[in-house]
Amino acid sequence: MVRPRQVLKHPLFGSVPLIPVAVLGAKGETVTSWRIDLDWQPPLPRGAVRGDPRRQTYCCDIPRFFYVDESRTCVQCGDGFIFEAKEQKYWYETLGFRLDSVAVRCAFCRKKRRSDRAIGRTLERAVLEAAVHPEDASVLLSLAEATVAHAERFGTGDLDRALAACRRARKTVPGFAPTIYWEGRVQEAAGRTAKALAAYRAFLGASEGKGRLEPLRWDAGARLATPSPVP
Ligand SMILES: [Zn+2]
Repeated sequence: MVRPRQVLKHPLFGSVPLIPVAVLGAKGETVTSWRIDLDWQPPLPRGAVRGDPRRQTYCCDIPRFFYVDESRTCVQCGDGFIFEAKEQKYWYETLGFRLDSVAVRCAFCRKKRRSDRAIGRTLERAVLEAAVHPEDASVLLSLAEATVAHAERFGTGDLDRALAACRRARKTVPGFAPTIYWEGRVQEAAGRTAKALAAYRAFLGASEGKGRLEPLRWDAGARLATPSPVP
C-alpha cells in the first residue's frame, strides 16, 4: 500500500516533505515516525540562497532549505538593516550558530561592539600584566596605551595610574624616549593640553635620530601641529 505523501506546512518553505522512519516502540513493536526530508530541494524564490540542512544546528526549529533577505531593526542605533541571505548562510552553516539566533545589530554596530569589547579586554589584560611585572617598562607603557585607548573611546579610565606607569617606566629604563610620548598621550587624554604639548616636544628632542621611533615621532609632530582643544 502506498501511503499518502506526508508534508509539513511552513509559511516560507511551503509543503515540506516528511519521510517515514521505522523506530522501535515502547513494547518492542515497529512504529513509523515522520522526519523532515533534509535532502529536499524546493525551487528557490528570487534572490534566495540554497541552504544545506545537514550543516545547520537546530532542535525544535525547521531547517533552512533556503535563505532570503530579512529586514530588521538594529537594537543599538534603531536603523533598519538587511540580514542578508548569504550572511545567514554563513552564520548558520559556516560559523555553526543555532538557527534561533538572529542578527539584532546592524553591521556597523556589530563591528563597533566587537572593537569596544576588544578595548576593554586589552585594558584588563594590561592591568593584570602590570601587577605581575611592575618593573617592566614595556608592560607599563602597554598599560598607559590601553588606558588612553579606553579613555578616548569611553571617556573613562584611570589616567593617574597610567601617568604613574609612564613615570615608573622612565625610572626603570632611563632615557627610554617612548615613556615621554606616552606621558603626553595620557596628559592629552586627561585634558591637560599644555602638559601634553610639552611632553611631545620633550619626546621629539629625546628621540631625535632614532629611526625605529619614527612612527611615534611622526604622531607627536602631528599632535603638536593640531592640539586637541583645551576643555
Ligand atoms: Zn546599528
